[in-house]
Order: sequence, then C-alpha cells, then structure tokens
Amino acid sequence: MHEVSIALSLLERIVEECEKNGYSKVVAVTVDVGRASGIMPDALSFSFEALKTDTRASEAILTINDVAIKALCNNCGSEFSTEDAYVFMCPHCSSNSFTMLSGRELNITEIEVQ
Ligand SMILES: [Zn+2]
Repeated sequence: MHEVSIALSLLERIVEECEKNGYSKVVAVTVDVGRASGIMPDALSFSFEALKTDTRASEAILTINDVAIKALCNNCGSEFSTEDAYVFMCPHCSSNSFTMLSGRELNITEIEVQ
C-alpha cells in the first residue's frame, strides 16, 4: 500500500508549510488526486487519518478531489476524457498516441491553517 508513504509526504509538506508561515496547526487540506495516479482515495484518506496524530495536522480534515483523465490525441488533435482509470486509445480515431493532460496528479490545492 504505497498510499502510506504518499500520506506521509503529504503530511510533511503541509506541516512544513504551516510552520514556515508561523501557524500552529493545520485544520484542513484539499488535494487533487488523478484517476490515473494509481492512488486509491480511500487508502490515502485512511493512511492520513492514522498518521496525522501527534503532528500539527492532528485535527486536519482531508478532502480528496477526484480528477478525471483528460488527454489530447497526437493523431487527430481531439481532446477527450474518461471516467476510467486507464486510457488505451483515442475514442475518435483509435490512435494510441496521445498526451495526458490530467489524471496523474497529486496536488495540494488548499491548506487551511490556524
Ligand atoms: Zn484521435
């Protein structure tokens, strides 16, 4: 379960951000997790809850936004998205050459501190 190490680095980042700005605790954090990132939101949430105790983020509420996959076809130029966790080909021309625009991210979008 690699979500444990992801939750740990997430915690390190938000605690560091909190301390750097002179605040004493993190009350909420929002992250964008792409469907193709391989991260299971439930497992991430569970790990975060388990690891946050004894940190400045012990009371932090984690909100996870699920980001759908978006890709740009390198062959026909059309942009497409899918609710699935994988993309194998362009739905318009069946080309398997495309550029991922979103869906692989793990970004902290918001940190609320006190
Ligand atoms: Zn295409």
